[in-house]
Parts: sequence; C-alpha cells; structure tokens
Amino acid sequence: MAQNQEYTVDPSRLISPETTPADAEENTLRPKTLEEYIGQEKVKANLRIYLRAAQQRGEPMDHILLYGPPGLGKTTLAGIVAQEMGVQIRITSGPAIEKPGDLAALLTNLQEGDILFIDEIHRLSRQVEEVLYPALEDYALDIMIGKGPSAQSIRINLPRFTLIGATTRAGQLTGPLRDRFGILLKLEPYSPGELARIIRRSAGLLGIGITPEGALELAQCSRGTPRIANRLLKRVRDFATVQGDGTIDGDIAAAARRQMDIDALGLDELDRSLLRAVIELYGGGPVGLETLAAVLGEESVTLEDVCEPYLMQMGFLTRTPRGRCVTRLAYEHLHMPVPRRFDEDGDGTAQQSFY
Ligand code: ADP
Repeated sequence: MAQNQEYTVDPSRLISPETTPADAEENTLRPKTLEEYIGQEKVKANLRIYLRAAQQRGEPMDHILLYGPPGLGKTTLAGIVAQEMGVQIRITSGPAIEKPGDLAALLTNLQEGDILFIDEIHRLSRQVEEVLYPALEDYALDIMIGKGPSAQSIRINLPRFTLIGATTRAGQLTGPLRDRFGILLKLEPYSPGELARIIRRSAGLLGIGITPEGALELAQCSRGTPRIANRLLKRVRDFATVQGDGTIDGDIAAAARRQMDIDALGLDELDRSLLRAVIELYGGGPVGLETLAAVLGEESVTLEDVCEPYLMQMGFLTRTPRGRCVTRLAYEHLHMPVPRRFDEDGDGTAQQSFY
C-alpha cells in the first residue's frame, strides 16, 4: 500500500534500548561499584543496607528482583552485588533456559554464595519455573528418575545462592515466582543531569573529549536510558572527529543528532511516524496497537516496548480502553495544527470528536 510506505522506517534504530552488536564495549563502561553507579539513589540506598546486613550475618543475599525498561542498568547492578559480596556471578536469560535440565545444570554448578542472574525472567517456561521454586526456597532440586509407576523423585541439595532476576515486565511474572523474591527493586528512567554524568564518565573511560554542554545535549535525547546515552556518545564521537577537532561540544552534538534524525527530545523517525500516523490517519486516535503496527510495518511489541513507554513518559501519547490517542503536546512537537477540541480540555484525549 502506497499510503503505508511513508510510515515505514528502517528497523535498525540507534535509540533502541535493547543491546545491539554496536554495544560491544558495554562491559568496559559498566560501573563496578555502587559508588560508580550513577543515579537510582533510592535503589542504591536500599541495596547498601541489604548488602551490609548479609555481610554482617555472613549469609548470601536474599533473592532480588530488578525491574524496569531495558538499558537502565539491571545487569550492571547484579554485577555490582556480586562484586560487593565477593562472589561469582553467572549470567543467563529466561529464553536460554529451555528445559528443566538446563536450569539443573546451572544450579548444580554454583558455589556457596554465588549469584545466578536470569535476565528476562518473565520468559521462563512453566516447567522450568517449577524446578526453580524449591531451589529458591529450600536450596534443593527435585529430580524425577524413570517414568510411569516406577518413577522416583530424588532431592539434591544445592549450595546457598542468590538469584537476581531482571524483567522489563513485572506484571508478566507469575505470582508464585514474584513471591519468592525477598527484595524488589524498581529502576526508574534517569534525569538528563544524571545521564550527562554517565556520558562524561563513559567519555573519560573511552578517551573522548566532551564539554558539559555536549554531554547535556546528548543526555536530553537519550530517553532516560544509559545504554542509549553511551551509544549516542560513540556515534557522535565520529562526527566530532570528522567535522571538528575531536571534542564533542554542544554544537557538534546537536548537529550530529540532527544528522541522525533524532530530535532534541530523543524521538527518532519511528516515534514521529507513529505520532503522525495516529494524527493523519486516525484523527488523533483512538487507534488499536495492531492497526498501528500494520500501518508502520513494525512488530507491535517494538511499538509497545520501545516507542510507547517513552512517548507516554513525555506526555505525547495516552492509552485508553479504545486504543492509543495523541495529546496536544504531540501536535505541538510535530508543528502540526492543534485541533480545536484541545482548547476545551487539557490534553484533548477525553473528548474525541468525530464530526
Ligand atoms: P539492563 O540490564 O537494564 O538492560 P545494563 O546493566 O546492561 O542494562 O546497562 C546498559 C549500559 O548502561 C551498561 O553498559 C552500563 O555501562 C550503562 N549503565 C547503566 N546504568 C548505569 C549507571 N547507573 N551508571 C553508569 N552507567 C550505567
């Protein structure tokens, strides 16, 4: 359909919070201690207390669930807990543990006190989850041997370990699994000031010159996400090398981001296409997610996990029971004429007019 064509964009997105091959240097940039870990003050304050308590008792930490959008520092934080406790960490993810046997192999290889980090823990299968319950509660593994009437269950004792689960979707975790975590920590998007500090720290580690204005400019379009901030920093370094003297200042940062089609608030072409599609094709909404995904030629999960959280956080988009609606701010941001209905009520989403 010709009409859809103009809304279809390249899926390789610079501002996707998911890991891409371009993030290869991520490990060098990961803070190793709580002191180096910037922002998330509430999480850090709580974690310090839990760490100290566990250290004083000489026991492993309670199981921890970290939740929040991708790229906010969950894996990094798990590594810091391991470092502070002086133990090993094994990193895996929900989809990688296919069978109960995979989990059994991981668990039986742990040493006393070790940390098992399971990313995307909401994607564990039910069967695997059931093996995990006794492991979390009693540090034991129940294994079935044989089949039919002669089947026998034997119990293997495990070393005391700490599970750190990470999820972008706490709501998708089953109740029994969630209840087995003693510590729940929610990571919030970072402020531009915090992201600017993260960018300056990363620039220091990578030997990139950057001015405070340059760091702030990049911070403002990093969507509250350190992974995106670090990725932008590395890309903008190329612009600074070719077009300037190698140092990223405010002007270079702004010019580079414009060249990469990212606007001052961090919206890229897909975000803007989404807002434009709701406005131009559906009169500002409401429109269902699946319809939007079809129009944009994108997976609905991409829109839901990558675009929408930020568009909603910025106040450009709302979810209503009948579908997605854009707000007055979205029209203003895109420099499109604001419909009259927005003059009557605040964001205009409550009073959709169809005439
Ligand atoms: P997640 O596991 O939530 O997807 P990561 O822990 O992999 O995110 O973090 C992504 C990148 O962002 C890491 O390379 C790390 O360097 C950086 N980062 C995350 N949080 C912080 C922070 N609080 N301070 C400094 N850098 C951070």
